[in-house]
Amino acid sequence: MSNPSQLKSLERQVERGNLHAHTALGACSSRLSETQAMLHGLADVLLTKGIIDAEELTQAMRSVENELKDLGDSNGPGLLVRIEPDVLAKEQEPVVDCAERMPICKAVCCRLDFALSIREIEGGHARWDLGRPYFIRREKDGNCSHRCGSGCNIYAQRPQVCRRYSCEHDERIWKDFANKQLNTEWIEQNLGDQPGPRATHAHMHAPVEVSKRPSS
Ligand code: SF4
Ligand code: SF4
Repeated sequence: MSNPSQLKSLERQVERGNLHAHTALGACSSRLSETQAMLHGLADVLLTKGIIDAEELTQAMRSVENELKDLGDSNGPGLLVRIEPDVLAKEQEPVVDCAERMPICKAVCCRLDFALSIREIEGGHARWDLGRPYFIRREKDGNCSHRCGSGCNIYAQRPQVCRRYSCEHDERIWKDFANKQLNTEWIEQNLGDQPGPRATHAHMHAPVEVSKRPSS
């Protein structure tokens, strides 16, 4: 990799990957300590008062352990994948007059966040954020890493979220869709340049759109 900007981007991803791993492990470990202290305290009280006996407690513990194992429940380090509905046919994709609106919206939808599905991760076209697996990767300015000029460099293989999204009813983007009046306040506040990792993210699907489309 000889291109310095690619190297810089890789460096940033590795840095974010480490940050993610340490944050996730730190959070898990502190939760575990709290839970452990609470459970030991509770067990002590119950044993001292003679409400339960030690054997009864061990049996109950083993039974819950086995139940969780059967359910496939695990304490993962905060990874997220999107459950993908059926792949949308081309003719079902919403139509928005993007070319006409782009001088105003500057393709702000490509700053919205989303997790990739397992199919998309394994497909290898969309890059995911090493600092926040498996969200789409984005650049320091908040734009999706696949934004390229006014287009998308994986357009033919773009994720399902992008295919399904329409800003038409997304009040976060347009105050008035018909009259092309952008919601600049919300955009600046939520999708402005992101100097560092953020605790909350604005997602590709507007809440109103999610409720209108139960399949997405
Ligand atoms: S979907 Fe909406 S926000 Fe995205 S490029 Fe098209 S017009 Fe702009
Ligand atoms: S994958 Fe393409 S369409 Fe989807 S957010 Fe990124 S640049 Fe936009």
